[in-house]
Amino acid sequence: MERWQDMHKTRIGKLAFSLLVVFIFSLLSTSKVVNLFASKGSVRVNNKIHKVIKLNKNSVLAQTPKRNFVVCIDPGHGAYDKGARGINGICEKDVTLKVGLKVGQALEKNNIKVVYTRKDDKTVLGSNEIQDLQKRVQISASSKADVFISIHCNQFKNSSVRGIELWCNYPNTKDEELAKKIEDGLYNLKYTQKRNMKYRSNSSLYVLKNNKAISTLVELGYLSNPSDCKFLASDSGQAQCANAIVNAILDFKKGNAK
Ligand SMILES: [Zn+2]
Repeated sequence: MERWQDMHKTRIGKLAFSLLVVFIFSLLSTSKVVNLFASKGSVRVNNKIHKVIKLNKNSVLAQTPKRNFVVCIDPGHGAYDKGARGINGICEKDVTLKVGLKVGQALEKNNIKVVYTRKDDKTVLGSNEIQDLQKRVQISASSKADVFISIHCNQFKNSSVRGIELWCNYPNTKDEELAKKIEDGLYNLKYTQKRNMKYRSNSSLYVLKNNKAISTLVELGYLSNPSDCKFLASDSGQAQCANAIVNAILDFKKGNAK
């Protein structure tokens, strides 16, 4: 009796074991099941191996690429628009381009992303002044520039008028902070005087008024003044101005690091 019962139990056990094997096999072979036997760090779903990404509270930040600091350099005028005329025949558009390119090259060496509104004298940004200015602002906006710097030179009928002049929209702003740093840097070169900061209340400048970036316009000096013109027309003067602007931007960036 006991033997028969033992045999009976053994048969039931074998049957149960067989059913279990069939069940497990069907589980493993079905494509919808996650294969827990996949290698460490991965799971199999729908017969595809997926890497397991361990998430923690910092992982989203860690995976978001750090955005570059972008500077948009705007060498004033260009092509048919010569800008101010220097007493030695030099054109404002040529001085602004040379200084602008030097600024950009130095910033790139400091791992800053640089965008130019123009990089040569052939680029025509618009067939009239307003189109030209609109295009400059569009380039700044589409590049999501953090900082926009428009480079110019002045001219006046009285040749004794000289000096550096910075423009920004409003006082007590980041725009003014950047403008002041550039003004100080240029003034330290001792080639000319410093004029008063100019704001939107003095005159509304399109490239500043319509710009989302921290923006400033720098007038490096007066091409109608012999002393300013001599310095700004020289390679050395242009290089020194560019260097002062670059240092001001780097200093501004450092002070505003997030
Ligand atoms: Zn100009």
